Amino acid sequence: MRARAAALVDRILAQPATDEEIALVERQLGRYPRGMVAVGARCVCGRPLAVVTRPLLPGGVPFPTTCYLTSPEAVKAISHVEADGTMNDYSALVADDESVRAAYEAAHRLYLAFRHELAERLGDDETHIQGISAGGMPVRVKCLHALLGQTLVMGRGVNPIGDLALDRVIAAGEFDPAVCRCTVGVD
Ligand SMILES: [Zn+2]
Repeated sequence: MRARAAALVDRILAQPATDEEIALVERQLGRYPRGMVAVGARCVCGRPLAVVTRPLLPGGVPFPTTCYLTSPEAVKAISHVEADGTMNDYSALVADDESVRAAYEAAHRLYLAFRHELAERLGDDETHIQGISAGGMPVRVKCLHALLGQTLVMGRGVNPIGDLALDRVIAAGEFDPAVCRCTVGVD
């Protein structure tokens, strides 16, 4: 777990956010992305889909959602899944299926290990968010944006619910990291 987290952080820190990327993410979010460390996942076109944010924002604000979804197309697509009641199915899956539950708990631990590694390297204090990951992990499904963010940044096979959510938006034809539907930064 530790080595896997370190390898992920190595990859992230190897390509720190550029001014152009920060400006593009600012347009995606409609606000300045404070504490943005790097682009964590990209559309096939190269534009950011999710960013990695430091555990402690400038000004000392703790920030638990380390893998943050920024693509407006992805945000919109996953909001539709949240609104259609699928979250209840995912919650039931985590509660009832032993292998899904175990994988979801492992995703939680990797999230924490990843952030811990990031905090150590950046010198950020994690005191206020210790043990808190994102999206409702390790036992609840509360925010699919956060879970999809983890799947996009860390890859498939890490978060089973993030993976299912990604499958669903791909099947709906609304979002796919392999199909560019970007609208921000295209002009
Ligand atoms: Zn694109």
